[in-house]
Amino acid sequence: MPKPRGRQFFANPGPTNIPDSILRAIDRPAQDFMEEAFIALVRDCTARLKRILGTSGEVFMMASSGHGAWEASLVNLFSPGDRLLMLESGYFSESWTEMARKFGLEVETVAADRRRGVDPAAVEAALRADAAHALKAVCLVHNETSTGVTVPPAAIRAAIDAARHPALLLADTISSLGSMPFRMDEWGIDLAVGGSQKGLMLPTGMAFTAVGAKGMEAHRRARLPRHYMDWSVMMTRPHRSFVGTVPTQMFHGLAEALRLIEEEGLEAVFARHARLGGAVRAAVRAWSGNQGPQIYCVDPQRQSNSVTAILMPDGHDAEALRRHAAGRYNVSLGGGLGALGGRVFRIGHLGDLNEPMVLGTLGAVEMSLRDLGIPHGRGGVQAAMDALA
Ligand SMILES: *Cc1c(COP(=O)(O)O)cnc(C)c1O
Repeated sequence: MPKPRGRQFFANPGPTNIPDSILRAIDRPAQDFMEEAFIALVRDCTARLKRILGTSGEVFMMASSGHGAWEASLVNLFSPGDRLLMLESGYFSESWTEMARKFGLEVETVAADRRRGVDPAAVEAALRADAAHALKAVCLVHNETSTGVTVPPAAIRAAIDAARHPALLLADTISSLGSMPFRMDEWGIDLAVGGSQKGLMLPTGMAFTAVGAKGMEAHRRARLPRHYMDWSVMMTRPHRSFVGTVPTQMFHGLAEALRLIEEEGLEAVFARHARLGGAVRAAVRAWSGNQGPQIYCVDPQRQSNSVTAILMPDGHDAEALRRHAAGRYNVSLGGGLGALGGRVFRIGHLGDLNEPMVLGTLGAVEMSLRDLGIPHGRGGVQAAMDALA
């Protein structure tokens, strides 16, 4: 098949579309990262990033994807044999668990119905059962990108406090930051992990951990080996981040990303994501007629405004749909991860996105359903337009 004409519609939940003004901002020659003006830029970006995170704590950045921030969260806070409580959500909670075990940590999980997300009462019960306070931390994925199910961090903090347990609360905000409200300090989150290539609309390659006072205290006792990701080493650097070469272009991009978010206004950014997410869900609800595809997340309160995972009808392959949408319509959709491979496809609706981009993607999905003879209810795009009107 010849390469389809026209601009590609990129509806992945990460990486996401990079605005042209960010691409222009990044297009720069090499620079001495010890220059005073550049150090000032890093400090300014860090302060503005803290406002988006809702924290007055520390933010430590490194050159990596989000996985590096997970690793930093583990090696900076814990010692070999420490126990963690992981709230099961899907592929990403499983991957964080796997990483923690490889570092010699013991991970207990709170099981959850993956289409609804964890029950805070089950978290409280697990913590009450730990009378000796062996569990050092509760880990949650705020927005489970593989399922499109969110977990309310404030409800988890309330469960920890109700159990009178001293565990730290760690939250992965990689696919929620800059798309959905995230209030680290207000919600009692001790550590947050984030990355560049999702709501922040940047290329992949910069990740960070944000840490509050309780986290810094735990850091001083933690004995897992670390070097590149060691916050204590970072604190000796003028940028208070990066053990090694600082990715200078990334900061010119980050400054522009922050400018775009500030210009629109953080609340308006969230409202736009809620509106576009609502339009996608309206379309899928229409398609779900006639035994068609369904929204994977069955709890309307927990449906993500940054990504929708869509469950295919039995006997129909999500990968075939994805291949068709890409090959015939030049629309790139997210695939099913882990156990959901082939069973779901995902529409990313976060970052640099507007109504016609979402409607274009939905139109291509609806045509693909028709082209491939997959049962569905008609009128998804109409339902999305009605939701947006
Ligand atoms: C993308 C993502 C990750 C992993 O980040 P990488 O940048 O791919 O390493 C972790 N957690 C969540 C929730 C994500 O969406």
